Amino acid sequence: LARWPGAILALPVTDSVKRAGNGTVAASLDRADLWRAQTPQAFRYRDILAAHRAASGLSLADDAAVAERAGLAVALVQGSEDNLKVTEDEDFARAERILAGRSADGEVRTGIGFDVHRFGPGDHVWLCGVRVPHDHGLVGHSDADVGLHALTDAILGAIGAGDIGQHFPPSEPKWRGAPSDIFLRRANELLASRGGRVLNLDLTLVCESPRVGPHRERMAGRVAEILGIARERVSVKATTTEKLGFTGRGEGIVAQAVATVRLAGRPGDRS
Ligand code: MG
Repeated sequence: LARWPGAILALPVTDSVKRAGNGTVAASLDRADLWRAQTPQAFRYRDILAAHRAASGLSLADDAAVAERAGLAVALVQGSEDNLKVTEDEDFARAERILAGRSADGEVRTGIGFDVHRFGPGDHVWLCGVRVPHDHGLVGHSDADVGLHALTDAILGAIGAGDIGQHFPPSEPKWRGAPSDIFLRRANELLASRGGRVLNLDLTLVCESPRVGPHRERMAGRVAEILGIARERVSVKATTTEKLGFTGRGEGIVAQAVATVRLAGRPGDRS
């Protein structure tokens, strides 16, 4: 844009355009070259100052019109429908919805999950619903699937529905050795009962061993299957802590997850 004296954000007109006469359509106009000007509008200071001085006393719609009158070329840059001009009272409500990530088709929310389980005796661990052979097991009341636990907490967090320990108290014998897909399914049901669905999940497993890479694809596939969502909406990543800390010493596995969900929009929801 450096070569233009000015530039403004604008949107091509997509609605058909009418000229009104006595409250009826007097003419249908060609919209092919029509754009709606937005702000910000940017100019070289000296140019626009001179243009304003030359246009003193005239009634012009915006700075771009002042520049145009002075013969300055003004580039059109694609704007956004969310770049809203706040004029009427109801524009404030719409601006608040945009800022809150809401739109007519719903509200986007995010939740975070974190879990740790320590290693103990065993010959395998459960990670994201996949049985991974290992020289230790993970200790826990359930199957100690640290990945599914973090994902469950992330979904619960996104809808403000507490945490996994509230819904499945370790004090209850019935969760002993339970497969953790039960927990993830329950969180998904709570989300669905609020008219929501998972947009995407991002999980990081932190351990020196076992190696996650060879199982990653199956893990993501299993999580997608449990939730009934597309495989591409699930990300499973892994890292080590460079032999530092308790994960570095091989004492356990950490899982961190972020869930992004969409709650259904309510008609007439203005807040
Ligand atoms: Mg846990």
